[in-house]
Amino acid sequence: MNRAGRESFTLKGFLRNRERMVREQIEARGITDERVLSVMRQVPRHLFVDEALQMQAYGDHPVPIGLGQTLSQPYIVALMTSLLVVRPRMRILEIGTGSGYQAAILAAMGAEVFTVERIKQLYMTSRSRLLQMKYFNVRVKLDDGTLGWPELGPFDRIIVTAGGPEVPAPLLEQLTDPGIMLIPVGGTRRDQRLFRIFKKEGRIHQEDHGSVAFVDLVGSHGW
Ligand code: SAH
Repeated sequence: MNRAGRESFTLKGFLRNRERMVREQIEARGITDERVLSVMRQVPRHLFVDEALQMQAYGDHPVPIGLGQTLSQPYIVALMTSLLVVRPRMRILEIGTGSGYQAAILAAMGAEVFTVERIKQLYMTSRSRLLQMKYFNVRVKLDDGTLGWPELGPFDRIIVTAGGPEVPAPLLEQLTDPGIMLIPVGGTRRDQRLFRIFKKEGRIHQEDHGSVAFVDLVGSHGW
């Protein structure tokens, strides 16, 4: 097979794997929000990982993205996206850009995405990747995201994709009222629970969405 033939063969394979991922890992586990299913079908997850790991990108597990960090399991990305209740043109702050995949998912839903990463190499790679893939509605910043992005807040939604010991106060302050924040929190590093926090009429209310395993949130309001 020539190079072009091989590429279209692989592309079809990735598309097939992506379809299967949505059916077997996401729909089958109860996520039915059509908007979420549609972006999970649309965004090419394999292009957010190293070439050598592309074949594993649609598996039912996290994928290493270097420097000890991981891209979350597809189901977790879909679950968080669905819990966030995203609508077009919402301003969303993400803490933990990593590969840029979650940011791309939110951007593909029509949100205006602001994402913060603390590791320079991941920041550089994901920023150029998102630009190259034409996700122009994403802004990436290199910083300690536990401080939020005060100059550009407040945000309708905040999603933290790393787990820390507490809910960072600056993030709660930068959330609109009404607003929704998602964050894994744990008393120890290996015992996290995913919380959905609602701000409404000046009050805070939180829901527990079960046990999760994210990499560490490191920073002044993290570990
Ligand atoms: N959402 C990412 C998941 C990446 S893993 C994706 O779609 O690929 C979590 C990321 O959070 C890691 O890249 C880690 O470096 C980053 N991180 C940890 N603490 C942080 C902090 N205080 N501020 C910003 N990023 C942080």
